[in-house]
Amino acid sequence: MRVGIGYDSHRFADGRKLILGGVEVPHSQGLAGHSDADAVAHALTDAIMGAAGLGDIGALFPDTDARWKNADSISLLSQAYRKVTEAGLRFVSADITVIAEQPRIGPYVGEMRRKLAGALSAAAGAVSVKGKSNEGMGWIGNGEGLAVIAVAVLQ
Ligand code: MG
Repeated sequence: MRVGIGYDSHRFADGRKLILGGVEVPHSQGLAGHSDADAVAHALTDAIMGAAGLGDIGALFPDTDARWKNADSISLLSQAYRKVTEAGLRFVSADITVIAEQPRIGPYVGEMRRKLAGALSAAAGAVSVKGKSNEGMGWIGNGEGLAVIAVAVLQ
């Protein structure tokens, strides 16, 4: 068994869609980023790559590369998972915490689990997604952005 952790944070920005776990979540702002800025998919990608000892998402999809401009991060997750399987490992499970003051992600968690698991050839039950507020503290509490922590297990 191999365990990996992933972390990502993005700043909120006007005029962007908010994409989390492959799902468009209705909100007044989206996240700034080179790709679709899906911090959930990015943290999970780092977790599976870390578990496999393959580095991180930036090494595979550099944000200096025009190919990944506005990229669908679920597709990036799927491509990273191909590297993982080539290394002889397969996805077992993941647990993800989204830390954001707004919006509340509860209504969208089921669809996120299906989208993320689908990229990993797994059942939705293998991917847990939970939302937490930051109790109004600091940059997350101020609504400047959000953060995501993901842990993944490979076998
Ligand atoms: Mg990111």
